[in-house]
Amino acid sequence: MLGRLKQYVFSGVKSHYKDETNRRIIVVNLFAAVGTSITFLLGIRAFIDAEYSLSTTLFIASIVFAISQRLQVRFSSATARTWSITLLISCLMVLTLLLIITGGKDNTGPLWMYLVPPVTMFFAGFVRGLLALIAFTVTCAIILFGFNDASYVADYTYAFKTRLLYSFLTVSFLSAFYEYSRQKSYDTALYLSEQFERQAKHDHLTNLLNRRGAQQCLDREYARMLRSKRPFSVAIADVDRFKSINDTLGHEQGDEVLRQISVKFNARLRGQDILGRWGGEEFIFIFTDTDEAGAVQALESIKELLSKAPLSVYGKEIHVTSSFGVSEVSAETDISSAIRRADQALYYAKDNGRNRVCAISSINSSPFSSSTSQQV
Ligand code: GH3
Ligand code: MG
Ligand code: MG
Repeated sequence: MLGRLKQYVFSGVKSHYKDETNRRIIVVNLFAAVGTSITFLLGIRAFIDAEYSLSTTLFIASIVFAISQRLQVRFSSATARTWSITLLISCLMVLTLLLIITGGKDNTGPLWMYLVPPVTMFFAGFVRGLLALIAFTVTCAIILFGFNDASYVADYTYAFKTRLLYSFLTVSFLSAFYEYSRQKSYDTALYLSEQFERQAKHDHLTNLLNRRGAQQCLDREYARMLRSKRPFSVAIADVDRFKSINDTLGHEQGDEVLRQISVKFNARLRGQDILGRWGGEEFIFIFTDTDEAGAVQALESIKELLSKAPLSVYGKEIHVTSSFGVSEVSAETDISSAIRRADQALYYAKDNGRNRVCAISSINSSPFSSSTSQQV
């Protein structure tokens, strides 16, 4: 019994949805359950008392509440959830208006008005909720004060109607204020957590992914490669003789050089490829869906771009080169050994004159895939 109840309350909840969405789904489930059962019980009561039009209205409302819950579970899409919420709020508002018009049981119908502001605000959010509440309040005022002598509108005293409207406006204002502050704090919390997450994965100097962020991309790419069976390639780049740049220009200029290098590295990459700062003056490239030869070709072009045109750092022209080590990742290799192999290829490039692209597979056969040699 408890298990079934839990299953009902959490029906439609998905782990990949935002917390806010899941919270709304749960509340819709709960509200629909309460709405369905209360209107159903009141409908039976009205039926027993031979108030057939009231009981029919309540039974219809009960069915609509139940349908609105089923809608969000059956079609688990954002559109279905919006329809479900719209149906739920509209049903509540129409039911309340009918209760105000007819008076319900012994003219107690208007009491259900107070349910409308919190429910509307919570489900529809601040802006849409406010608009819906204004429309509802205007309709209520027209019904209460515009049809004074109409026989089909229940008879309320003037004092009752004004107090009802004032108290309703107070509850509406408080609900709107509560929803506004709740949404503001939720947005702030979300913004901060996204910022923290971004900072944890990015390097503040170059704005590229940091080692942690790149590692996550590698894991994701590896999983994708296992599914698609298409290899991808990784490359480590290490700026040549960077220490001497720091020593001659200073650390701050060195930072600016790293920043400009990151821009140049990025300039020749395809949209799906990934660049990260692996640490110090080392960068990592992830070439998705690309074999070693394809990665070497792309890196040759990047290497040329860097070495052919000098950087302009605080008014000074600086010639910088970089060495690159490449390794292909396939189902037979794991990521750490692929990185190790790219590092080996990089050392090979350094040992053989720098400003080179070297692929691990070509080390044993032919030493380099590139033979340019130009040093800082
Ligand atoms: P090689 O061609 O063999 O790679 O020579 P290298 O001088 O680049 O190699 P080494 O590893 O000896 O020097 C790397 C230097 O990079 C040392 C370190 O101070 C500098 N470095 C690391 N991170 C940063 C940084 O964030 N900013 C600056 N300005 N320098 C950095
Ligand atoms: Mg280094
Ligand atoms: Mg270096």
